[in-house]
Amino acid sequence: MNSPNNFTEAFVPTREAGLKRLKEFAPLAGEIYSNKRNFDFSSVRKNSVSALSPWIKHRLITEEEVLIEILKHHNPHSAMKFIQEVFWRGYFKGWLEQHPTVWSHHNEKLIKEYVKLENNKFIKENYMSAVNGETGIECFDFWCKQLKSTGYLHNHVRMWFASIWVFTLKLPMELGADFFMLHLIDADAASNTLSWRWVSGLHTKGKAYAARASNIEKFTDGQFNPSGQLREDIEPLTENINHPFVPLVDLEQFKDEDAILLVTEEDCSPETSIREDNLEVEIVPLYRKKKFPEWIEPLDSVRSFSNTAVQNSAQRLGCKNLKPVEDTNWTEIILDASDKLGTKNIITPKIPVGAVKSEFRKIKKNLAEHDIYINEHYRDYDKYTWQYASKGFFKLKKQIPNILYQLGL
Ligand SMILES: Cc1cc2nc3c(=O)[nH]c(=O)nc-3n(C[C@H](O)[C@H](O)[C@H](O)COP(=O)(O)OP(=O)(O)OC[C@H]3O[C@@H](n4cnc5c(N)ncnc54)[C@H](O)[C@@H]3O)c2cc1C
Repeated sequence: MNSPNNFTEAFVPTREAGLKRLKEFAPLAGEIYSNKRNFDFSSVRKNSVSALSPWIKHRLITEEEVLIEILKHHNPHSAMKFIQEVFWRGYFKGWLEQHPTVWSHHNEKLIKEYVKLENNKFIKENYMSAVNGETGIECFDFWCKQLKSTGYLHNHVRMWFASIWVFTLKLPMELGADFFMLHLIDADAASNTLSWRWVSGLHTKGKAYAARASNIEKFTDGQFNPSGQLREDIEPLTENINHPFVPLVDLEQFKDEDAILLVTEEDCSPETSIREDNLEVEIVPLYRKKKFPEWIEPLDSVRSFSNTAVQNSAQRLGCKNLKPVEDTNWTEIILDASDKLGTKNIITPKIPVGAVKSEFRKIKKNLAEHDIYINEHYRDYDKYTWQYASKGFFKLKKQIPNILYQLGL
């Protein structure tokens, strides 16, 4: 059997590494991907999926660049399955943007679940056996260790893992989603939270995902068969809360004047979102301090992936005043840069709902006292995509040919 450490693809948080992986994968994005994408052989090299999400999540490479490269090798019809998968990310981002209380409610519930964990020996033991990969369900324990040693899991594995967590182990969904957020190098507020909700039956109300032993056996090519160990007859979770629809905000184009361009983990190639060639911009990176519960100790490479991506991007873009990653006081950094460069025009691509957005909310008032406001701007891809992400994926799926046309593809 493969050990988690045989899963050896190097995930390097640079744009260069992402582009290299994209070029390698692009010829395989047609029939091979659509026929084999659901199989997990516990190895990036043997699997038929792209393993591009760590780079796309941080926008070290953008969805648009991925689509351009894929369409050099395939027509839209033959690569449609892959193209649709790429659009799932935009769907989840756009959906969360228009239902932001899902994220705030999820985080409030998460805090309560951590408190409950401390006060209930039975839940704590059950939880600790899950996060230590000691449940006795061989596949689950293997994936748990694989996640911790690589920072990545195949999509089908994520679905099985989440389903086993919620329905077989009966652990709170929020704790599982957080376990992923703390370990995945592609951790993403929208894709992760909404996928866990989808598996649990909260995203498409009343429809939950059951991990079945026969399905696991088939799609792991016989590596695992947890027959008799899983709860396959499941009841979707429910919640007594309505998440109101919030329309997307209109954002102005940025002013055509010198600017400070913020690089965050949400968008590590912000330069590709600016069309004005004559705009003078100074790059300022912003790093985030992540908090981990004391029993969660991710690998250094996992812990630092996002901040290294930000740092590398700033370096690549010729940042003149590169801050150490420990420097996480955003108010000070922005005020300092504004002072030195003599401009209050601070721009950044639209920050989606998630932890970075929450950090910006915290410093908004402090910056406003200095008459500084962050001017966000939409990338074309997000503008064209998010507007169709208010309900189910089907509405966006129907628009994919139009969006490709709007993007000139
Ligand atoms: C419980 C659960 C949690 C998840 N958490 C995350 C997360 O934190 N971050 C994250 O980026 N993805 C998450 N996903 C979605 C998906 O599993 C990963 O994006 C995908 O496995 C990445 O591998 P890949 O690049 O090889 O995908 P490929 O199959 O090669 O797909 C190409 C690209 O399409 C996008 N994509 C594919 N499938 C999905 C999907 N289901 N949802 C959204 N985008 C998709 C990704 O950008 C991916 O890189 C989660 C899925 C589940 C079921």
